[in-house]
Amino acid sequence: MKIEELRKRLAEKNLAGLLVTDKINRRYLCGFTGSNGLLLVTENNLRLFVDGRYTQQAQQQTTEVEICEIPVGGNLIEALRPFVKGLSLGFEAGTISYQAFTGFQALMIEVNGELVATKNLVEGLRIIKTAKEIAAIKQAAAIADQTLEMILPMIRVGMTELELANEIDYRSKKLGSEGPAFETIVASGERTALPHAHASQKKITANELIMIDFGAIYQGYYSDITRTFGFGEVGAEIKETYQKVLAAQKQAIQAVALGKTLGNIDQTARQALAQENLAQYFSHNLGHGIGLSCHEYPALAPTESLPIEKNMTFTIEPGVYLSDSEFGIRIEDDIVVNEAGHAELLTHFSKEWMTIDCNR
Ligand code: ZN
Ligand code: ZN
Repeated sequence: MKIEELRKRLAEKNLAGLLVTDKINRRYLCGFTGSNGLLLVTENNLRLFVDGRYTQQAQQQTTEVEICEIPVGGNLIEALRPFVKGLSLGFEAGTISYQAFTGFQALMIEVNGELVATKNLVEGLRIIKTAKEIAAIKQAAAIADQTLEMILPMIRVGMTELELANEIDYRSKKLGSEGPAFETIVASGERTALPHAHASQKKITANELIMIDFGAIYQGYYSDITRTFGFGEVGAEIKETYQKVLAAQKQAIQAVALGKTLGNIDQTARQALAQENLAQYFSHNLGHGIGLSCHEYPALAPTESLPIEKNMTFTIEPGVYLSDSEFGIRIEDDIVVNEAGHAELLTHFSKEWMTIDCNR
């Protein structure tokens, strides 16, 4: 199905095939998870070029794919040569290395073919998830929810952000995650004003804000969640701002509907924050696609004109970062667009304002 749809899109661009160099796109199209290899999609064939380390794995993970082993001492370009004569082939301009590009280009000139830059061809297919993919993201989200549940009672005064981040990674792996979705973010106190704070050696103290942003991976599929909460009592401005960000997040989730664009949803959150004079502190996009990678196409950016469709999965994560007041708030959930075209939450951990006991 995926391959047929891709072939249709290639034909529309008058391309005879596509050189799939992106690891995740390769996995998406044929199931092969190895870090090295090239998938050549043509009108009638699907060929996966791997070296001897991966032949067995490729045979186990794929069906209806011709595995072409690159012999020891040989190279990919020579292995490709017999199959690309005179073809007009697309390549993935956004993720290919310059070295790989020049190799392919020299080959295509030699065989009287052509190399054509493409953008988001496979990523465009990946936007719409199958039921199986959604189930995997759901499980990744459930692991993240359970991790939060487990981790919050473990926070103590004097623990460093890094210690907490490591604990999150460890617990989520114990709960079935294949690894952290990205470098787990734990920011406390004034460090919450940094939109992408890396966990540091800073010790968590009583009566400050904590922001946790992390995700789990299940069967290759990602989740991504952010919660911000008080560790002990925090000031009134923080709590008021929290309610405004939460209201904007809920409005954006409510606004998801068929017939709207992804940009419309970003604008909904941005306008809600503008009414509270907070829009100038919202310094990033509202969200991003989520699937076989954590931050994938498309972005929920103000100008994104892609229409909302059933079975899309993406994050909704408004955030404000008030460096003068030395705090930031972000609340992030993962959603799937359901049959009716509405947003259905995949992450379920409570996002009502929460104060955690710091005297334990
Ligand atoms: Zn996140
Ligand atoms: Zn995110």
